Amino acid sequence: MGKQCLIDFHLHTEHSPDSEAAMPAVCNAAAEAGLSRIAITDHVEIPALYKDGYDRTAALSYAQAGGMQALFKGRLQVERGIELGEPLHDLEKAELLLDTYDFDFVLGSLHNLIDDVDFYHYDFANADIRSLMDRYFAEVLDMVRWGRFHSLAHLTYPFRYIPEFRGKEDYSPWQDAIDAIFRALAERGLALEINTSGLRQSMGRTMPDLPMIRRFKELGGERVTVGSDAHFPQDVGCNIADGLEIARQAGFRHIAAFHKGKAEMLTIE
Ligand SMILES: [Zn+2]
Ligand SMILES: [Zn+2]
Repeated sequence: MGKQCLIDFHLHTEHSPDSEAAMPAVCNAAAEAGLSRIAITDHVEIPALYKDGYDRTAALSYAQAGGMQALFKGRLQVERGIELGEPLHDLEKAELLLDTYDFDFVLGSLHNLIDDVDFYHYDFANADIRSLMDRYFAEVLDMVRWGRFHSLAHLTYPFRYIPEFRGKEDYSPWQDAIDAIFRALAERGLALEINTSGLRQSMGRTMPDLPMIRRFKELGGERVTVGSDAHFPQDVGCNIADGLEIARQAGFRHIAAFHKGKAEMLTIE
């Protein structure tokens, strides 16, 4: 795999509530892993934003990522990104955040339905999975139609936590909903993320997996991004080469990187 396309566009640092990784350590790990380019994408969960009148996470992460750009110049290209969670739960706050900063790259995410807990904490044993996931995909579609992000993060995120899906993932009940999301992404020129974190976890597959990425291509998708979703320096760049191989198998010849909100297509060698 050529170095040029070894990039990681989903990384967390201590500015995310679920990571303690120092940003310089994350950048060092990326350079040492032979990556050419990364995006720092700390969590900003929109409903929790501006609770104290100040978007601390975004401000600190953005400023420090700017410092890293200068510090690693010539060795590693660092993009100032963000993982924007649940923007539709308070659209006004989301728009204000995006108007305040010039993010190079924005991931759009949905970790929980409105007024509900993160799927990570969900009580799936007592849930109607079919209707719960209907609601999940419907909200993802609304988020894509809103469209103020560059790549749709970990589309199959909730399934990682549903016990009966482990090892026998069957997304067919939601194929129409997923197709509608893929068409909406393609129409807007938005990217689909290949999130490789599932490969180092019990799920054992990327989010989404190869058949879905192939389907995105069939429905006109032109851009995919790849990210490890690392929360520890040792996971930076993890399984990125596998993610690129999955993109290639799905028919993509390029991987998308973003700088100042503009896509740059890097050839997958
Ligand atoms: Zn996420
Ligand atoms: Zn993440």
